[in-house]
Formats: sequence, structure tokens, C-alpha cells
Amino acid sequence: MGHKDVAKIEGRELSQSELDVLSLIAPAATINIIRGYEVADKQRVESPGHVSGVLDCSNPDCITTEDEPVDSRFEVLEDGLRCVYCDTIIRDDIADYINV
Ligand SMILES: [Zn+2]
Repeated sequence: MGHKDVAKIEGRELSQSELDVLSLIAPAATINIIRGYEVADKQRVESPGHVSGVLDCSNPDCITTEDEPVDSRFEVLEDGLRCVYCDTIIRDDIADYINV
């Protein structure tokens, strides 16, 4: 709302799944990619339709939180994330479930 969200991550560039996560917690963020001392590139984060493997489901009985080799997968809703396996919806504290 009129202010600029800035995420500063130094020394490396972000993987696609990290960008996906960032888009969930800071949908209006712009990423400045800095090489040396200059901004080499600017990237707006885009909200993906789905995110895989970057969040833990909040449901302890979900197949993705058990010892199965199943990556978590969430559908991105306007106001939250829905686990495609157990339909649990995460709305608040998304950052608490991030597991990159
Ligand atoms: Zn789940």
C-alpha cells in the first residue's frame, strides 16, 4: 500500500522455488539482482498457480508430512494455500511453514 517491499538477499541469486515462496509472503515485491555494486536486473515476483516442495503442510496426518517420498504441493488461492493432498488451507503465518 504505497510502500515498497524490499527483500535484500546478498551474495546469491534466488532459485525458482525461493521466488515462489517470496511471492507468497510479499506479493508486491521487486527483486533487485545486484552484481558488484550495481543493480543488474530487476525482477517482479509473480504468484505461481502452484508451489511444490517449499512449504510443509500444517496437517500432521498429511501424506506429505509423513515419511513418504512425496513433495508437498499447494494450490495458490487468493487468500491462502490449499494442500492438494489433504485440502488443508494455510492462510496465516505462511512463513512458518516454509521449508526451502
Ligand atoms: Zn496436506
